[in-house]
Amino acid sequence: MTTPESKAALDFCYQGDPDLLQVAEAKRRIAAHMPGISDTESIPLIDALGRIVAEDVISPVDVPGHTNSAMDGYAVRGADLPRSGQRRLEVVGAVLAGSPFEGVLGKNTAVRIMTGAALPQGADTVVMLEQADSDGDSVVIGADHRPGQNVRQVGEDLRRGDTAVRTGIRIMPAELGVLASFGQDRVTVFRRPRVACFSTGDELRSPGNPREFGAVFDSNRYTVFGMLTRIGVEVIDMGVVPDNREALHRALEEAAGHADAIITSGGVSSGDADYVREALGKLGRVGFWKIAIRPGRPLAFGLIGSAAFFGLPGNPVAVMVTFYQFVRPALCQMMGERDPRPTPELNATCVSRLRKKKGRVEYYRAVLERGEKGDLVVRSTGKTGSGLLHTMSEANCFIVLDHESESVEPGSEVKVQPFFGLV
Ligand code: AMP
Ligand code: MG
Repeated sequence: MTTPESKAALDFCYQGDPDLLQVAEAKRRIAAHMPGISDTESIPLIDALGRIVAEDVISPVDVPGHTNSAMDGYAVRGADLPRSGQRRLEVVGAVLAGSPFEGVLGKNTAVRIMTGAALPQGADTVVMLEQADSDGDSVVIGADHRPGQNVRQVGEDLRRGDTAVRTGIRIMPAELGVLASFGQDRVTVFRRPRVACFSTGDELRSPGNPREFGAVFDSNRYTVFGMLTRIGVEVIDMGVVPDNREALHRALEEAAGHADAIITSGGVSSGDADYVREALGKLGRVGFWKIAIRPGRPLAFGLIGSAAFFGLPGNPVAVMVTFYQFVRPALCQMMGERDPRPTPELNATCVSRLRKKKGRVEYYRAVLERGEKGDLVVRSTGKTGSGLLHTMSEANCFIVLDHESESVEPGSEVKVQPFFGLV
């Protein structure tokens, strides 16, 4: 584990922020104090989906390794193409992918060739099957061809020595294929962070148990589990911890002993925060922030031992919003991800009226689709209570209203963060 800034710098936590902390500033502070993982491991390529590449991968060979045909057709010499009219070439053989032609293609001859087959020596051009008139022994071709056409050159995709996949890239299906394309069957990646999580609250019951009057099923444990799993970390699910000093202390201590990061939900708002606050004060350097965000105002962040700690709010929608805005980028950073492919943010026409106060960022659950005129339109899923988790399931994006923006009238342009790529 590496810590980018000294522990002394974490004193920001104790200086306190009586006023609301802006979203951008909270993100900046988290990024500055997030520990990183430097341990690496070599793993089989087939297990590498979603992992972060830990050292540049250089192609040891040319891809493709041989100049080959991009079409089914006839391999010919560019010099033999007729300038006008037609020309008859003698067909002297046939090549399939994987079985090269022996010999050199002579003047005014052609070889029948299939897609991917190595171009015979002497040939530099392929005429598509559909554009050639053949009787088996010879083939007649017309004038509308270009020397070099329908040919894939050796090393056209990657040259030997090219950096094919860079450090910090998350391996997606394309990278799996790219690595395989030059014969790599293992890849060096960063170790996956171990992330411990638990829910706090005396009222919580785990699904599968009875729910007596006043009790609440623990949904946060499931959303957090899902969100963490999608990022590709190793999840240590610690279940529910009651609102009690000793139990919290024990759980946090255990988590810090095993995990690179700890994520809890509930118990960080002022009402019932005291136990969490006290336990954290004893165990680590953790600040409680009130962030200028809706939903998700209270958030705790800091270090317990060498583990990063995130105390998320209790309300289920606030958990998801704060996770996606603060925890996800921080964990991706911890994993070593430095992906230059941006997750797109879009603009769309909002068809809902949204009430908004200046001075905080608001995330509305919304549905983005193509409107009748072909433009992108977005509508709020309706009720905005931060306990209404079902609206997260209806939505496919957040409408993001920036710190300075005020209420939105129907027809206005708004910024949209699609769930695609985020979730
Ligand atoms: P708290 O921040 O602990 O005061 O919780 C705020 C609200 O979120 C309360 O209504 C809690 O019952 C609810 N809540 C807290 N944790 C969970 C959870 N794990 N699953 C579902 N609801 C929760
Ligand atoms: Mg609680």
